[in-house]
Amino acid sequence: MKTDRSTVLFQNSQKVIPGGVNSPVRACKAVGTLPRFIHRAEGCRLFDADDNAYIDYVGSWGPMILGHRHPAVIQAITEALARGTSFGAPTDLEMELACRVIEAVPSVEMLRMVNSGTEATMSAVRLARGATGRDIIIKFDGCYHGHADTLLVDAGSGVATLNIPGSPGIPASVVQHTLSLPYNDAEAVRSVMAEKGKDVAAIIVEPVAGNMGMVPPAPGFLETLRAVTQENGSLLIFDEVMCGFRVAYGGAQSLYDIRPDLTCFGKIIGGGLPVGAYGGRKDIMSQIAPEGPVYQAGTLSGNPVAMAAGLATLEQLRQPGVYDTLEKRSGRLAEGLAAAARRNGVPASFNRVGSMLGMFFTDRTVENFETAKTSDLPRFGQYYREMLDAGIYLAPSQFEACFVSLAHDDAAIEQTIQAADVSLAALSNG
Ligand SMILES: *Cc1c(COP(=O)(O)O)cnc(C)c1O
Repeated sequence: MKTDRSTVLFQNSQKVIPGGVNSPVRACKAVGTLPRFIHRAEGCRLFDADDNAYIDYVGSWGPMILGHRHPAVIQAITEALARGTSFGAPTDLEMELACRVIEAVPSVEMLRMVNSGTEATMSAVRLARGATGRDIIIKFDGCYHGHADTLLVDAGSGVATLNIPGSPGIPASVVQHTLSLPYNDAEAVRSVMAEKGKDVAAIIVEPVAGNMGMVPPAPGFLETLRAVTQENGSLLIFDEVMCGFRVAYGGAQSLYDIRPDLTCFGKIIGGGLPVGAYGGRKDIMSQIAPEGPVYQAGTLSGNPVAMAAGLATLEQLRQPGVYDTLEKRSGRLAEGLAAAARRNGVPASFNRVGSMLGMFFTDRTVENFETAKTSDLPRFGQYYREMLDAGIYLAPSQFEACFVSLAHDDAAIEQTIQAADVSLAALSNG
């Protein structure tokens, strides 16, 4: 595969952008390869600067659930562009998108738009602290809630990929009220809440975890979080930035039938443009300025072009049969990959909820960050490079999820399974 142009672009980028990238995992350090510079995308495919084509399972890290350049999204963006790119004033589009999210997600009664998932979780945490008058936040190891100071403790995603405990630049005093517990460990939560519950502002969780690879909630785990927060007057925040509109139209909370107090969104609700949002109970959301005292603002929040892309995306996802199609294709992919691993004698463990998948190179069942870390990372790197050479674009880290979109047709899925069979055979021989 020719990579001359990506090579030169990466050399030049490294001179002007730290690490040559604007988000760490993109540099492909953990998988020992050169990042491919993407030139364009269409449907389920990416095309790089050397015009190599790849079947894309990153989907811009989640947003591209319809595939790239979906005609309805492009049309909505084009129409919005004709009216202007930013007004810094209220618009019909942001109100409509808020209505759409509120209709879809039963626990959400009011919604505030922001520009990224990081802003959504950061603001939800401030609101939870402001509304309860308490300081402690409980999170879970391997969950990633964006890069805000308070939440960057034992985090997943890039922090896990680079194997760093947290980050310099975050004073200990800022994270002294953040506790991180093992994911899916209901007992640990009960015991910490028994001791500190009355000082806990909120528990924040990825109800389907997608930033330590893909890890589903164990039966009863989310129910325990709901119960102990209610008992202690603490809030439950679902970070559905990744799984919202992904695992079901109404998100993980509709799939598992739990109503959190606050929910964070991002990724899919922006249809590929930068959007985040947080919402929930009206009495809590009313605490936000200017209705209440908790301050949060944004110059470009509710940007009309981004709102249009989000609205068009949700309109497509609302059509009947959409999530059945995603389930069928993702199921076929997971089955095919598992069969290929067995055939080639490669120990592998699979997790899947809808179109979010995780494949770990371990014989352990992966149910938290500790078991995720039993994956053979050099082997993952080798698999990643084999797949890339075969034209399959996976997330360049074991600690990221894999996404199937509506544009992944049966032919693309079969091509992927065949590529995996060949790649896994190369591992077992090498
Ligand atoms: C991606 C992600 C974030 C951060 O969103 P950004 O838009 O990258 O700031 C937060 N929480 C979860 C669960 C995510 O997957």
